[in-house]
Amino acid sequence: MPGEAKIETEAGPREACGVFAAYSPTQHVSRLIYFGLFALQHRGQESAGIAASDGETVTVFKDLGLVAQVFDETTLAGLDGHIGIGHVRYSTTGSSNWANAQPAHRQVGGTAVAIGHNGNLTNTAELAASLGASEATTDSDLMAEGVARAVDDGRSDDRGLELALMKVAPTWRGAYSLVLMDQGRIIGLRDPSGFRPLCLGSLSDGGWVLASETAALDLVGARFVREVAPGEMVVIGAGGVSSLRPFAEAPPSLCLFELVYFARPDSKLCGRSVHAARREMGRVLAREHPAQADVVVPVPESGIPAAQGFAAGAAIAYTDGLVRNRYVGRTFIEPTQMLRDQGIRLKLNPISESLAGRRVALVDDSIVRGSTTRKLVTMLREAGASEVHLRVSSPPYRWPCFYGMDTADPSALIAAHLEVDEIRDHLGADSLGYLSLEGLLGAVGGGPDGAGFCTACVSGAYPTEAPITADKHQLERL
Ligand code: 5GP
Ligand code: SF4
Ligand code: MG
Repeated sequence: MPGEAKIETEAGPREACGVFAAYSPTQHVSRLIYFGLFALQHRGQESAGIAASDGETVTVFKDLGLVAQVFDETTLAGLDGHIGIGHVRYSTTGSSNWANAQPAHRQVGGTAVAIGHNGNLTNTAELAASLGASEATTDSDLMAEGVARAVDDGRSDDRGLELALMKVAPTWRGAYSLVLMDQGRIIGLRDPSGFRPLCLGSLSDGGWVLASETAALDLVGARFVREVAPGEMVVIGAGGVSSLRPFAEAPPSLCLFELVYFARPDSKLCGRSVHAARREMGRVLAREHPAQADVVVPVPESGIPAAQGFAAGAAIAYTDGLVRNRYVGRTFIEPTQMLRDQGIRLKLNPISESLAGRRVALVDDSIVRGSTTRKLVTMLREAGASEVHLRVSSPPYRWPCFYGMDTADPSALIAAHLEVDEIRDHLGADSLGYLSLEGLLGAVGGGPDGAGFCTACVSGAYPTEAPITADKHQLERL
């Protein structure tokens, strides 16, 4: 993309977006939303935005960059109002530019609609065709357009947005955990499969918040009330909270990788600590694929709990062998070729004292493309490790994701083309063991049949009709 540099800091594909919403009877909410988004920054670093309303108008401020780069005291002060929504984005649909940042926003007569979307629709081309001329360039923008057009602005009550959503949402296919607002209400909506998480919390002043993850509730001092159920629409306004069911029921299919990799370890999903689930994955992995090693080393950050579980399960010493630069995120500075060759060192650097002369069991949560992992194995050997036994706390990632992860291109997935021993050789490891799907489901408290979870990228069983094309630039080309 001209004028925009992307350093190869996160060689894996990026995670889905984060959403947050707040309603308060006593306070302006933009600051609260800012901190909610701050807690969800790991879910998207491309852009951040907040929409807020004082009851008359809806004001939106959004920009490319991290939450702390996008907002300051002045911009937050300009976002007046007791209700609002916020969004952090990683581009799963459309390229990364200002127009694609969220919340998406439309004005229809006297009604303003703002929307923040986490997930990915699988029938965008069909929806775009049925809308005809529109300026939408992402699936999220298309949703805003569809809802805005369906709003009956002439209603005498304040249910316009909610009724429009009831009408339009059943035409959407794929993954969407949404927060929406008009001038009087915030709404949370999860698609019938519930691919992406969404939870409800209460504030001590009688207000309410919605967030992608429970860790965001903790930061703003909200009490966890419950998860928004798959297929549920939660409407929050002056009259309190009401729950609606706009869809026919479908089997719940939470993304398994929320538990493996996406979600913060201090969040809870399905009533379960993500950290505890990841530790358990490591324990099961140690049972399934023991290693003859002197030390267990995690790939920070996301591999840490699984490595702890692995070390405990295998009774091998756990040690830090890699240090992660905490401030690596998106950078707008183009590295020189010489720096680019250092690649991964921007993110991870070895501690040779922990590694030299040792047989290392290196534990990570997943291998997607294999490019990061390959560099890591080389780095560990250069730092003196005598053997590198790679252990991965999820099964081989073989099938593309159409539900909000930027892995729709199967040619990028190493396990789509190579068998495990070939992957081991490609990565240069002495041995390689992946957690089995049964083992993973057992660790997250799911049944062996996968009920309750989407497992498509590791099983090939898609919970909804898989789309024919999932090119993230498809709308822009239409
Ligand atoms: P790879 O070796 O496939 O290039 O990178 C694997 C690393 O990417 C793992 O450490 C994993 O934590 C990280 N990663 C970054 N983004 C994603 C993602 O969206 N999904 C998954 N499963 N892993 C990711
Ligand atoms: Fe999650 Fe994989 Fe399903 Fe995508 S295909 S939603 S990454 S489990
Ligand atoms: Mg990682």
